Amino acid sequence: MTAPLAAYEGIVGATVLRQLRKFGEKLSGVRVVHVNSTREGGGVAEILEWMTRLMLELGVEASWEILHGNPGFFEITKAIHNGLQGHNVGISSRDWKIYEDVNAANLDRLRPRLEEADLVIIHDPQPAHLLRLCDRRKGKWIWRAHIDISRPFRPVWKSLRPIVEGYDASVFSMAEFAQPLPHPQFLVPPSIDPLSEKNRDLVPAEIEAVRIEYGLDPSRPVLVQISRFDRFKDPVGVIEAYRMVRKVSPVQLVLAGGGATDDPEGKSVLEDVMEAAGNDPDIHVLLLPPSAHRTINALQRLATIILQKSTREGFGLTVTEGMWKGKPVIGGDVGGIRLQVVNHHTGFLVNTPEGAAHRIRYLLHHQDGIDRMGATAREFVRENFLLTRHIREYLTLMLVTLRDIKANLVNV
Ligand code: UDP
Repeated sequence: MTAPLAAYEGIVGATVLRQLRKFGEKLSGVRVVHVNSTREGGGVAEILEWMTRLMLELGVEASWEILHGNPGFFEITKAIHNGLQGHNVGISSRDWKIYEDVNAANLDRLRPRLEEADLVIIHDPQPAHLLRLCDRRKGKWIWRAHIDISRPFRPVWKSLRPIVEGYDASVFSMAEFAQPLPHPQFLVPPSIDPLSEKNRDLVPAEIEAVRIEYGLDPSRPVLVQISRFDRFKDPVGVIEAYRMVRKVSPVQLVLAGGGATDDPEGKSVLEDVMEAAGNDPDIHVLLLPPSAHRTINALQRLATIILQKSTREGFGLTVTEGMWKGKPVIGGDVGGIRLQVVNHHTGFLVNTPEGAAHRIRYLLHHQDGIDRMGATAREFVRENFLLTRHIREYLTLMLVTLRDIKANLVNV
């Protein structure tokens, strides 16, 4: 449950909230619909949860709709996702037809809201085709890509691009992801909610209870990576790094993750992880339900160092979450992790398990470095990656995109 806007004053200051309310007044009554393909699991669902509520509080008529799919559809959209992130994947014309058909099957339910909206924000490729199906739409449509499409597998981008080109604008998390497109492109990095169950302060007893529940030894450092079991998150590479460190330091590793309903690959990645972990009692592979926000919060607080050794990453909310808890992050030198991990200041960027092991060993021998980087990391998130900055950029984008529509609205 999102806290009311006023609750953030102690974290971001009154001026920031005043500015948001001013923007909200200008957009009062504007109808915005967000569409993605899962209500829980993964970063997009995390964001849409609070974004919708806070926009409502600011006077925007925001809503959040889900495109429902079936396992076959999500196999295909996962392949599209992997292709956009650079993997060589085979997607047949029959697959694209299924992709279109599932979008069409959602239309009757979604059409009234989508066609009435002043602004529709479509998140990621799964629901992107809806634009072509809504022929009586009145508002502007924006495609919001949350993934790293800096080096897409060309055949996949070639098929998706004509769909994306139909949008009035697109939004990417960082400049490297932008593509040649015939419309304005906005850069909006994501953010976290510091008052959510995932990020709010916890009392020591609750953190301790989680430590005991998962059998972590209080006298030894803990490395933590929280992620869906996804190959791009490189959990097996994390185990390799841990093993290199383990030879010289008595560390423990927590790999915690769950699935997202729109991600069918998790099971096979988890099998690979279990095999790589073997029967090492100091590797804790935790399969958590989507509601385990406080457990994740506690695990991030129990961490000595947070890892996010992704080989592709749209942004990496888990990095932000770890930094907000005052932890240094050792992250893959890719995508949105580069926006957050400032090498040697908020953590370290690495490219290999060896690199990760090297940096883990360094930090384990320099508690002062852990403390300094952790403190810098928290302030860096406060300045750049909290929800108030994020919502301000969305409201700005709406003001720019809806200029002409606004002129026709009576109450703005
Ligand atoms: N997450 C979760 N449970 C899990 C794994 C991840 O709640 O088992 C959350 C995690 O805390 C973060 C989000 O899902 O808030 C993942 O976002 P990120 O941008 O790191 O990666 P994505 O899954 O979107 O690729």
